[in-house]
Amino acid sequence: MTDTLIPVFDGHNDTLLRHVMNEGTTKQVSFFEENKTGHIDLPRARKGGFTGGLFAMFTPSKYDDTSGVPFDPEDPANFAEIDQLGALNFTNKMFAMARKFEKESQGDVIIARSVAEARSAMAEGKLAMIMHIEGAEAIDADLKALEVLYASGLRSIGPVWSRKNIFADGVPMAFPSSPDTGSGLTDRGRELIKNSNDMGVMIDLSHITEKGFWDVAELSTKPLVASHSNAHALSPSARNLTDKQLDAMRESKGLAGLNYHVAFLREDGAHDVDTSLDVLVRHTAYLVEKLGEDGVALGSDYDGCLVPSELKDVAGLPKLIQCFRSAGFGEKLIRKIASENWLNVLERTGL
Ligand code: ZN
Repeated sequence: MTDTLIPVFDGHNDTLLRHVMNEGTTKQVSFFEENKTGHIDLPRARKGGFTGGLFAMFTPSKYDDTSGVPFDPEDPANFAEIDQLGALNFTNKMFAMARKFEKESQGDVIIARSVAEARSAMAEGKLAMIMHIEGAEAIDADLKALEVLYASGLRSIGPVWSRKNIFADGVPMAFPSSPDTGSGLTDRGRELIKNSNDMGVMIDLSHITEKGFWDVAELSTKPLVASHSNAHALSPSARNLTDKQLDAMRESKGLAGLNYHVAFLREDGAHDVDTSLDVLVRHTAYLVEKLGEDGVALGSDYDGCLVPSELKDVAGLPKLIQCFRSAGFGEKLIRKIASENWLNVLERTGL
């Protein structure tokens, strides 16, 4: 398609979850072979220029469900609160899956513990994974699991997913809706933010309520980052960011990662994969206007969402880059959005 691939560092995917859920079933596939299912495997990552990203460990409310029934956003059981030990056990499975990728790759995939490690791996054509927890249920009230997970390589935490836990309240997948849907940080949540700040662990604000967002904005000493959320002004989902939130993020030298989920992109919120890539470009341009050229990046949500059929999977990334070019984005800005902004904000966060 184009001469050289633009390297991409992406803010969010659920590839580890997909591999853990499918393990031992007929859906199990190898990460090292090109598959027709799912969004990310190593061969397709290479085709798309995807050389690094935050790899999420997300424990579904029905984490022990082996029925294979696809996630239904209308089913309240998918948003039920979960227990810490069950979440920790399930998180261990996803962390072990990342280690398995690293070991079996024989040097082609690494768990990066710092931005310096990620940069050098990416420069050598390796895939750099930075470990992230989406919803901190696996972490106990005394934060002992935080220490252990950090020692294993964890470098980013979304305190809450779209369900309540001991740290904060999450936003539902409501549409249309303001993100001001519930309460903010608890006292334990404040301790989690302070400890994460001190350790150099990024706090991810995608999925937190607006109250929780402002609580973190007041308390955190680090840039305000939402790894996979779009502009509420263009798609009024509770999962997206209001102009006021974007202003605060800019003030903190923070960042938003563009989410490819059609329901968070479209102005009608429909779950329709027949969605033009122009909509992704519109959100990106809007976010650049609000956050500046250093504050916008990619946060695909691959393997956890419905992407526009034209983009299809991670091998489709050059199409998105081409759309940015066609819309008049310069090469320098494109490279910032594709990878540099993520690496720089992680560095500003202390990684
Ligand atoms: Zn998410």
